Amino acid sequence: MAKAKVFVFAPADPTGESRKMLEEAGCELIEGKANWDTPQGDSEAEMAKLAEGCDALMGTSIRSTPITQKIMQSSKNLRIVAKFTIGVDDVDVDAGTELGILVTHGPTESNWGGVAEGAITNMLTLLKKTRERDRHLKTTTGWRDMEMQGTYLGSRASDGYPGIVLGIIGLGRIGSRIARLMRPWGMKMIGYDPYVPDSKFEEFEVQRIKDLPALLRQSDVVTLHVVLTKETRHMISTAQLAMMKPTAILVNTSRGFCVDEKALIEALQQKKIAGAALDVFENEPLAPDSPLRKMDDRVLISPHMVSSNIGSGLKPGLLWATRSVISALKGEVPDNVYNKEVIAQWQSRFGGKSVL
Ligand code: NAD
Repeated sequence: MAKAKVFVFAPADPTGESRKMLEEAGCELIEGKANWDTPQGDSEAEMAKLAEGCDALMGTSIRSTPITQKIMQSSKNLRIVAKFTIGVDDVDVDAGTELGILVTHGPTESNWGGVAEGAITNMLTLLKKTRERDRHLKTTTGWRDMEMQGTYLGSRASDGYPGIVLGIIGLGRIGSRIARLMRPWGMKMIGYDPYVPDSKFEEFEVQRIKDLPALLRQSDVVTLHVVLTKETRHMISTAQLAMMKPTAILVNTSRGFCVDEKALIEALQQKKIAGAALDVFENEPLAPDSPLRKMDDRVLISPHMVSSNIGSGLKPGLLWATRSVISALKGEVPDNVYNKEVIAQWQSRFGGKSVL
């Protein structure tokens, strides 16, 4: 029997553990040009060619082309597209479902918990003026300066200070972990997520706000934790930025396209909001000449690695994806199927049929 073919369109396997597991299972691997450091790789046409005759596609996020219907259609054998990451916005999931292909993803705690910790770190860095204070001492001979006063987050019974308001958009894995981690700080937390029940807001002690403008008007920090969909694309644009307080900051660790980047740059330049912490951008890597790279301390940027931590980061997701591919090639439905509605159709085509 010919070997099962796996096209790793964006490898991220520094220890070679995933490759070893797949080769030991009897797979032949083909690797694409994109990778974790450089998400720009093969074009759609190149990917369609590389995917010909493949049984599985897997990889981390790719930004040169999404995994389109054309790419998936180039192999009649294709059983699975397995992402190492949580986001599947670079896969045409609807096309996969139509073609009877499983799309799996990697919502590992190391990833989503890492985003929550990183988003909070960025928020605190801005609010507490950490970079400014450090640089002031290292680059001047000065000492204290009122310009470097921070923001107290929680409410204070002692002097009636009400604390600031944290507005969480999207109360899924990451949004709710942020609420849990921030609860002891004593801020008022409000949230907007039309797709989760009231019980979740109650569980995480977040006040439910039924419309986005109301959340934007009330919040001192707006933090975005939605998945990228047609509905959330540019959900923060000129009109929404204008609703925010001029003293408020925006934190985006979700997906670049959830925020209209041009509108955000304008709002920052015109001081319509006080600052932004961004881990994700409309185009990645962020262009060398992006105005965001030139902005002062009001803007904190990171190269889409807010969840990347020593010993965690993507590795658990890579191993989940590897196990998912091996299961699918054995004719078994893996865990973490994103398009669950395809499972019955998939079972009738591939269930119990191994190519390993
Ligand atoms: P999740 O699916 O658990 O939560 C997403 C939440 O968004 C859900 O509760 C959903 O109901 C809500 N939502 C959907 N549409 C909405 C809308 N129109 N308005 C308000 N809420 C809406 O996902 P998660 O694991 O918490 O991940 C959240 C985001 O973080 C995703 O975009 C993911 O791609 C991104 N992410 C980024 C990194 C990074 O490295 N920066 C890493 C992991 C995940």
